[in-house]
Amino acid sequence: MNNETICAISSGTGSSGIGIVRLSGPLAVEIGERLFRGKRRLKELKSYTAAYGHLVACMPEERNTSVLDEVIALVMRAPHTYTTEDVVEFSCHGGPLVLHRVLEELIKAGARLAEPGEFTKRAYLGGRIDLTEAEAVMDVIAAENERALSASLRQLQGGLSNRVTELREKLLYETAYIESALDDPENYSLEDYPEHLAPILADCKKNISRLLSSAKEGRLLREGIRTAIVGRPNAGKSSVLNLLLGEERAIVTEIAGTTRDTLEEKAVLGGVQLTLIDTAGIRETGDVVEQIGVRRAKEALRTADLILLVIDAAEPLTTEETDLLMEVSFDVPLIVLLNKNDLSTVVTKDEVRKLLMEEGTPTADRSGELCRILEISAATGDGKDALAKAVQELFFAGKLTDSQEDYLLNTRHIEALHEAQDALERVEDSLQAGVGEDFYTIDLMAAYEALGRIIGETLEDDLADKIFKEFCMGK
Ligand code: GDP
Repeated sequence: MNNETICAISSGTGSSGIGIVRLSGPLAVEIGERLFRGKRRLKELKSYTAAYGHLVACMPEERNTSVLDEVIALVMRAPHTYTTEDVVEFSCHGGPLVLHRVLEELIKAGARLAEPGEFTKRAYLGGRIDLTEAEAVMDVIAAENERALSASLRQLQGGLSNRVTELREKLLYETAYIESALDDPENYSLEDYPEHLAPILADCKKNISRLLSSAKEGRLLREGIRTAIVGRPNAGKSSVLNLLLGEERAIVTEIAGTTRDTLEEKAVLGGVQLTLIDTAGIRETGDVVEQIGVRRAKEALRTADLILLVIDAAEPLTTEETDLLMEVSFDVPLIVLLNKNDLSTVVTKDEVRKLLMEEGTPTADRSGELCRILEISAATGDGKDALAKAVQELFFAGKLTDSQEDYLLNTRHIEALHEAQDALERVEDSLQAGVGEDFYTIDLMAAYEALGRIIGETLEDDLADKIFKEFCMGK
């Protein structure tokens, strides 16, 4: 299927100093050659060698050529390239018009426009990377904060595949052993085999659980911690929002498909991304807040991973704070910010603690693990570092420092891990029930195959297509 040579603009849209047009496939060098004019011919270049020259558009009827751009051509030969095929990259001037003209001429010269993710798909089909690594490419490009970036880079280097491959090897070894023993009982013994298999199963299950437990952290790293800032009018919600946004204010993402137009803004706090959910107090002022504030706050509270309750510590507590606390789900981390500590304050941590423990509030049931009370001044920025630390403790329990353990698991990985886990439990049941060894192999292989889907070893074509379609153009 890969006998076509594909091309795409691999650098970003918009104007830039340099823009890269990439060709990959069996005719990459030949097609590049049709446009390239330089002292040296592309065909003569060794792999990983660049040459200076011009790209020209050919107009055969006039036996004439017109210069498209001045470029550097880089030739990379199969199989040691990104796609495992011959690759030619032209570094052109980075204007959208010039890049599109080069692309058009390459298509006229015999290349086909690449589909989104097609270069990476070829790397996968060529066996250079597995599926988790291909997905990691996408995550590296999409990473919006340091932690997500380092986790995806680690995944790109095979972090997750190595874990999965180790598990699969163990399962395959045991299956092969059982089958050999059933075939050749003289040489392989199954005596006491259940006692041998049980701890191996337990160990595999533990490893899978560990991977699964990093899944939530992976989602939070990738998508940001959905954070609702609530509190009564004038408590300082907008000020806290601005404090968090800091320089990041410009990054505004419109999330489509919500019941109303909601803007979500992203802030990075201590290397962790917060996706700030717009509650009424965030952007509106005056009466509007009082009319719709509570309703929106409630909505935000329902979908949040983290709640920041802002209290004006310079004013006595009111029933509004108690009302808001009634809406806080018992298993969502809550940070109470006693704001305006640059003024003389009247609300104390103890008072808030008492309020949190009050009979009948959802917060009364939870352990202190999920609650923090901090003094802060949104006006001066005092307390921002303590807030960053609290977020890290609440969500990553200090584990972020041991960053080797973060995996950016997606839904596909999680489903496969659960399936493998279930299959291993069935093997354990068979062990308990004392049924014949041939029963073990069926479920051991089911686990093996489920894990294989993660790295793309056992995967239907249409699923791979679906995954690569989500890639950006030119990658
Ligand atoms: P919101 O209605 O909850 O969004 O509150 P705002 O952020 O609009 O703040 C209400 C008022 O309190 C504004 O006049 C802010 O300047 C003021 N304010 C907010 N935070 C602080 C703070 O930490 N210290 C002081 N002195 N004033 C603050």
